[in-house]
Amino acid sequence: MKPDLLLPASPIVRPDKDRFLNEENPFEGMMSRFDRAAELLDLEPGIYKVLRHPEKQIITSVPVMLDSGEVEVFTGIRVLYNTSRGPAKGGIRFDLNVSLDEVTALAAWMTWKCAVVNIPFGGAKGGVICDPLKMSIGELERLTRRYTTSIIQTLGPDSDVPAPDVNTNERVMAWIMDTYSMRVGHTVTSVVTGKPVEMGGSLGRREATGRGCMLVTKEALAHLGMPMKGTSVVIQGFGNVGSVAAQLLQKEGCKIIGISDRTGGFLNAKGIDVDDAIAYVQEHRSLEGYKKGDAVTNEQLLTTQVDVLLPAALENVITTKNAAQIKAKVICEGANGPTTAAADAILDAKGIFVIPDILANAGGVTVSYFEWVQDRGGYFWTEKRVNESLQEIMERSFHAVLDLSKQHKVNMRTAAYMLAISRVATVHRLRGIYA
Ligand code: GLU
Repeated sequence: MKPDLLLPASPIVRPDKDRFLNEENPFEGMMSRFDRAAELLDLEPGIYKVLRHPEKQIITSVPVMLDSGEVEVFTGIRVLYNTSRGPAKGGIRFDLNVSLDEVTALAAWMTWKCAVVNIPFGGAKGGVICDPLKMSIGELERLTRRYTTSIIQTLGPDSDVPAPDVNTNERVMAWIMDTYSMRVGHTVTSVVTGKPVEMGGSLGRREATGRGCMLVTKEALAHLGMPMKGTSVVIQGFGNVGSVAAQLLQKEGCKIIGISDRTGGFLNAKGIDVDDAIAYVQEHRSLEGYKKGDAVTNEQLLTTQVDVLLPAALENVITTKNAAQIKAKVICEGANGPTTAAADAILDAKGIFVIPDILANAGGVTVSYFEWVQDRGGYFWTEKRVNESLQEIMERSFHAVLDLSKQHKVNMRTAAYMLAISRVATVHRLRGIYA
């Protein structure tokens, strides 16, 4: 990459380089990958410093009247990591493990993800520390509306556009859209994506992340000379991403031999009927009690003999503790941050082809972009057009990352970071530092 034309070149100061890396801290993991890519890009110190800092972090108290009449105060977070390329974009999660470090890492990943697929968005993420499974619909609605009001200054189709993430869905997006619209006095559909189709959502959005995983897995297998037909796949996490990826990979001829969720999982070498498993989960809310194979823990599932492993749940599932035991030939990261930075080298040494999260799961935000475009244009696409446009972007992005990885002799993750960082850095150079 070309060095900065505006700022003088000088040695890069890397403040955190020799610090002890806490493997479980997603922000440190994200930063260590960022540093490696920045070094290979020979990123100038000014932009290096800018890109290591989130633009804005909001921490807010969210008081909610519970059904019991008691008041509970939750903590809500919204981080806008970088908005140089466009409005901040990223989901909102409701989870007990939400923390500022986690949300900041996820917001940075959104920045790199949008840049990898080259859509005109920056990156953001939000979260509320709560256990949504223990809350009623009424409580969740009050929580969502109060949290939305607390971050209303940043929200807007041109500034910050939320979407679903862990434990949030179309219904939560409808509440956010309504709350925002009531505040500004008119209906603004483009303030969130992942909404119900009836109120400005896009066809194909719900399936988009899983579809993107299928598409890049297909490209990876073709690159490695492996056929789709008969290729075995294990899916860790059977939510919106994992279940759709499983369904579409099965349609393409792959054999799904293992699935799991937070209640456990099972393996079946003969293949699992994915549609049947999805129907079971729809009825029972989890895989618990659905035993169509040998029961295994998530840990056993991850280290099973398989061609493709697709982690599609949360961060930190592939770590230095289990990476050496992983037998997959390909890992497709449907989740954000499923592999710790320290585990990367172990997977590399084993020759495992990793399709990194910021590429593999970018299908969701790509169709979010289509949704935003449709809302703003007031003209809605067919599902065919959505899926074809998604396919074009995922395939183009996969090959851009693959080409860069060959050119620089680095793995796919480092290549994806290099591509993303160079795109964000270019915009910073063009815009300059406003004084
Ligand atoms: N939560 C999804 C992600 O992590 C989608 C974000 C979006 O569509 O804005 O990529």
